[in-house]
Amino acid sequence: MTPINKVKVMLIFPSMLAAEPISYYLVKSYDLKINILKAYVNYNVEGRLLIELEGTDANIKNALKYLKSLNIKTIKNGTGTYIDFDNCIACGACIAACEPGALKLENDKLVFDGTKCLECRLCEKACPERLIKNVFNQR
Ligand code: SF4
Ligand code: SF4
Repeated sequence: MTPINKVKVMLIFPSMLAAEPISYYLVKSYDLKINILKAYVNYNVEGRLLIELEGTDANIKNALKYLKSLNIKTIKNGTGTYIDFDNCIACGACIAACEPGALKLENDKLVFDGTKCLECRLCEKACPERLIKNVFNQR
């Protein structure tokens, strides 16, 4: 019997897809169970969904490919914590603020481990470049 796995994925999708029944297609076409953990949808801006997908590895992989083909950004083990890695200067200030150890430097690049992130938002306040935000709770 093919093993069933679970994966937590953050989906960030553009405004024109905000009203699409994405979860319906994932269930129907890829035989996945979907658990929506957090959701933010604004028809005129963008949609954000933190979901748990349950199914075979192959079906999860194909579903993620399908989402990418729709121009939906997928972040495995994502949380509401969003980091603009492109503009990060690797100063390490956010690492010092992160007690659970979800942030570290590897080869002078910031690395985020969503499995450890508690969404406490202390890194957000610590970043001098204002590169971190919580996508579900913006101030
Ligand atoms: S939100 Fe909290 S736990 Fe998550 S990366 Fe930032 S400081 Fe660490
Ligand atoms: S505090 Fe900001 S600039 Fe510094 S490493 Fe963290 S995300 Fe990058």
